[in-house]
Amino acid sequence: MKAMILERPGAELVLADLPEPAPGPGQIQVAVSACGVCRTDLHVVDGDLTEPKLPIVPGHEIVGTVSELGAGVEGFEVGQRVGIPWLGHTCGGCSYCRSGTENLCDDPGFTGYQIDGGYAEKTVADADFCFALPGDRSDAEMAPWLCAGLIGYRSLVMAGEESKRLGIYGFGAAAHIVAQVASFQQREIYAFTSPGDQAAQSFARDMGAVWAGGSDEPSPRELDAAIIFAPVGPLVPAALRAVRKGGIVVCGGIHMSDIPQFPYSILWGERVVRSVANLTRQDAIDFLALAPRVPVETQIEEFPLADANKALQALRSGQLTGAAVLRP
Ligand SMILES: [Zn+2]
Ligand SMILES: [Zn+2]
Repeated sequence: MKAMILERPGAELVLADLPEPAPGPGQIQVAVSACGVCRTDLHVVDGDLTEPKLPIVPGHEIVGTVSELGAGVEGFEVGQRVGIPWLGHTCGGCSYCRSGTENLCDDPGFTGYQIDGGYAEKTVADADFCFALPGDRSDAEMAPWLCAGLIGYRSLVMAGEESKRLGIYGFGAAAHIVAQVASFQQREIYAFTSPGDQAAQSFARDMGAVWAGGSDEPSPRELDAAIIFAPVGPLVPAALRAVRKGGIVVCGGIHMSDIPQFPYSILWGERVVRSVANLTRQDAIDFLALAPRVPVETQIEEFPLADANKALQALRSGQLTGAAVLRP
């Protein structure tokens, strides 16, 4: 099968011919139809994250059809459409796994990072971490749901149910999904983009933002919470200055440049800064039930599998409006 592999961080992905992976006990083999390109893939490729399995097939926003069942798999059948997210495996026994926070598992496996992912024609995954994808949305449109959607949704939950005025810093794949869900929940979205990025600002307004401007501009209203998707540390103090007393700033990305020193006065007043790490399977169950009701519509740009480097470069340079999706 054809796959795009990373041999060492900092290098371009290479098109390789690999043997088809066989599903082990409890696993399913999936014929990949679409795989979204997430900013985390960029961090893996660029070497921002420690110790990926090498070589690795990146990609953790996978939509495809089940092509083979491993021993003992129940609940899936060949030909069924499934999604495979970032959380690929947990230990099941650590204190986090036993307390409903398996996203923090001490011994996890992440798709496209420690486990070969979806930049390939076929992949295998633990069936317990795969999700049936009902509905009539196309495979390519649904791919960004699997990470931008799920981790965006977890970030939105962490911003607090009562937070009506919500800032979003960085308006890419996750933001455009979160904005639709938040608007559906009667929240007001204030979108902060790179200064002068008119295309992203008009995209944010199209996705329901009541205001869009540069991250160097003050917020027009005091915010109840803010979610930062851009991997830019200086946005943390910027967002803290924009939220009210008791407001929450959620850092939704897996990696961020250093956060500059800031005065305690902007954290004072019981403001909260927190990160969101990974996802739980319950997040996926909740989001996959909610998204069709919104309904979430993703804006995508499709690339052939062999053009994965082009897709990554488009994301790196901020040329995308919405999400890049590879089509093996
Ligand atoms: Zn665990
Ligand atoms: Zn991701």
